[in-house]
Amino acid sequence: MKPFRNEAEFEIELFCCGMRLDPSAQVESLLSARTRAGLGSGLDIIIGRRRKRRHINVPVKEKFVGDSPYRLLKIGHDFVIADDRDPHVRFFAEIPSLPSWYQKKTSSGKLMSRVGVMQGTYLGIYVGDICKFWKVTPKTACKFCTTGVNVGINEDTEKKIDDVVETALEAKAESGITFVHLNSGEQEGGGLETAAPYVKAIKERVGALVGVQVTPTKDLWKYDWLIDLGVDHFSFCYEFHNPEYFAKYCPGKAEAFGQETFFRAMEYVSKKMGKGRNSGEIIAGLEPVEDTLAAIDYITGAGCFPTVCIFRPLVGAELEDNPSPRYDDMVAVMRRVYESCMRDSIPVGLAPNIEVSLIVNPDDALELVPFSFRKMRYETNRKMMKLLAYPLFVSKMRKRKVSADAYDPSKYKR
Ligand code: SF4
Repeated sequence: MKPFRNEAEFEIELFCCGMRLDPSAQVESLLSARTRAGLGSGLDIIIGRRRKRRHINVPVKEKFVGDSPYRLLKIGHDFVIADDRDPHVRFFAEIPSLPSWYQKKTSSGKLMSRVGVMQGTYLGIYVGDICKFWKVTPKTACKFCTTGVNVGINEDTEKKIDDVVETALEAKAESGITFVHLNSGEQEGGGLETAAPYVKAIKERVGALVGVQVTPTKDLWKYDWLIDLGVDHFSFCYEFHNPEYFAKYCPGKAEAFGQETFFRAMEYVSKKMGKGRNSGEIIAGLEPVEDTLAAIDYITGAGCFPTVCIFRPLVGAELEDNPSPRYDDMVAVMRRVYESCMRDSIPVGLAPNIEVSLIVNPDDALELVPFSFRKMRYETNRKMMKLLAYPLFVSKMRKRKVSADAYDPSKYKR
């Protein structure tokens, strides 16, 4: 068997082409349990034997996968990805088994896999009701999204604080998670208000880093409140930099708050929390590549790191018949992610044990950029900062009393 070539390129190729499942693989039972509101519906695999282990949620269900040259098969005890264009090319892969806590129930009787799921090495939890954009007539949901066909079906809509805490405690004990990511669609009472009680409970009763990804608000003081409750990271899904594509593919977001609200909120928390703490999330492969590159430059210029999802025409989404993005374009995009982080000295990959399987992590793109002294200096700085920041992360991952009120933000209002 041939060893891996450039792992970053292979990762991107898998996101773009997907992978067919050979009958010998027998991994179907791992698929449905990993379905997550509006996000990946594929198979989580781990590749990488050189610099790092890469967690990748590989598309396996979508129509375009039928044309993929890659096929997952099992040979003896090993999983192997064969390239059907060349019988000599084969890649080893690890398929993580489902954690046993998925089958446990919370004290209210909820199956924990319907409360939260692993997405790479962290725990992802959708909080709140089905996104409002799915419920209005006519529907204004984002065209690439499948949240409305998942929440309430593959995962429970109503999640009590105790359900989330108990699930996170099990995930921490068994899966060793360090990060809980709370995401939500548009909520009647406000996204930050929806997430607030969960943030406080996780900080006080679980002890983990907490990320929040909800729709943005013009009331910037509310971010002060969430930071006091313990949020370590905000992500802002503005999806498209080109305003026309934003309006076309995200009609609900365009009508309710527009791109500017994302930009102001992202700039605000970045200034308040510091460089590299927050992220701007975009989708690559639908708007022109130049716009995606401009988005990446804007995000790092604002002091955040870009999380770039390679567009996946998910089954059930309005865009399910769209083609998957071109590999060459996605390589250019991911190269720019690393270059822009380097140019703006964004300290990426510092937090312990956070590998996101739905995206190419910014530091995953290192191999796409040729050697230079600048790159060497950036990598040396990153390694040093990772070492120095470790005690800080350890202290942030301890349970602690939070004095801010999770239901009454009035004292922050200005
Ligand atoms: S805001 Fe858009 S992407 Fe987010 S859940 Fe609603 S429809 Fe889906």
